[in-house]
Amino acid sequence: MTHDPTASLTELRDRLGVIADLTQASALMTWDQRTYLPPKGNTGRSRAIATIGRLRHDHMTDNGLADVLAALEAADLEGDDAALVRETRRDVDLATRLPRELVGRAAEQFSVAQTRWAAARADDDFASFAPVLRENLVVVREIAQAHAAGGDLYDALHDLYERDSTAAAVEAVFTPLRAELVELVGEIRERGRAIDVAPLLGAFDEGRQERFNVSVARAFGYDMEAGRLDRTTHPFASGIGRGDVRITTRYKSDDLRGALFPTLHEAGHGIYEQNLPAEHAGTPLGRYASLGVHESQSRLWENVVGRSLPFWEWAYPRLQETFPDRLGAVGLEAFHAAMNVVEPSLIRVEADEVTYHLHVMIRFELERALLDGSLEVDDLPGAWNERYEAYLGITPPDDRRGCLQDVHWAGGMIGYFPTYSLGTLLSAQLWEALRRDQGDVDDAMRRGEFGGILSWLIEHVHRHGRRYTPAELTRRATGAELSAEPYLRYAREKYGTLYGL
Ligand code: ZN
Repeated sequence: MTHDPTASLTELRDRLGVIADLTQASALMTWDQRTYLPPKGNTGRSRAIATIGRLRHDHMTDNGLADVLAALEAADLEGDDAALVRETRRDVDLATRLPRELVGRAAEQFSVAQTRWAAARADDDFASFAPVLRENLVVVREIAQAHAAGGDLYDALHDLYERDSTAAAVEAVFTPLRAELVELVGEIRERGRAIDVAPLLGAFDEGRQERFNVSVARAFGYDMEAGRLDRTTHPFASGIGRGDVRITTRYKSDDLRGALFPTLHEAGHGIYEQNLPAEHAGTPLGRYASLGVHESQSRLWENVVGRSLPFWEWAYPRLQETFPDRLGAVGLEAFHAAMNVVEPSLIRVEADEVTYHLHVMIRFELERALLDGSLEVDDLPGAWNERYEAYLGITPPDDRRGCLQDVHWAGGMIGYFPTYSLGTLLSAQLWEALRRDQGDVDDAMRRGEFGGILSWLIEHVHRHGRRYTPAELTRRATGAELSAEPYLRYAREKYGTLYGL
């Protein structure tokens, strides 16, 4: 290439900036839909979000963008410029494979399906959701076929959420993990000491909970000047734009854990988004590496830090001051044990660290069977309940607490669930690497100092945005491929001590 690529790079950034602004508009409208939108505004809002999706698709598949991208690919670029072109190519290819008509149809289908799912879940009425789920699967298969180019449909979908990962790679991690976890859960049940969760149950003033939870999120590094905390049924984090990363939580009237851990979890997502590279904001390079990497950040703050004894040595006296009547007479060790009780349960998002993966594995198996047609939608509740009995030893009493509990399949998201476990495994692997680099961070946590942990995460994860694939990022940060071993070492040591095994 003979001419200077500077002008082309400027044009590329300008075009990506327009797309980023449309994405921001859509993200804000979606955030509003999930927080404060009056119910009668849902239909119009869904249509508006679909319109923006089509406009975004138009810009991504525009010939002018294709030309400037091709010119830059022919230029001899290095460093960030080369990475920007490479990542833009991925996004343009993903968009180009989907016909415009399918993009709009999918957005409306999944939006309507989520409304129908919410009603079916509230009424515990799987039969009313089954036809919608069947229609969703038809659309999801069309999307998968567009991306798969004759390859495996599940892999094509899973790659949208966890780049370069495959069902086989997930299985290779899940198989040993499942065996070890079932064994650990069995040991805890048979030989573990009894842990009393009563101190966490009952009413806790919500305003006080919120003040305490926010103070912890801020101590971890969540910037309230670039974010906010609202209430929703389903907690989430949303990176709306530079300087605007919002989180939500919910409150349980009878359990202190109900708001605390979702808040710390979403704050972990928010901290990652707030520390993505500012110089690449509005381009693919300024975005998160993958959902698994995102989840590694939320799970690290929620669990590895937020359920640890050193953290609570600092935080517990503050919580006792917040709730002197409830917790004044409860000792730290008893409180910490109660926060970490391992108990097979029905709801994934409320599961403890050990049984959590079993919930994810059940969904991974069932969604593959739904996608390839070996499981009929009508047989889903039965298949779901059988697996809960087999893996966790419990049977959901209704579909509301069974196969209707998660929004993902209603939202057309098949291939997403494994990222929760992959991210959790990565959180433990990052933690081992962090401690190798920084030494013991327990003393800092006991003093309520989390800056060392945060700066390591910024250095090795956040500031890179999408410069590296998840696999490369993992290797560079930890020196190894993603593996279940660090997590298993962490779980065996922590729960062995806690349960006196
Ligand atoms: Zn999460």
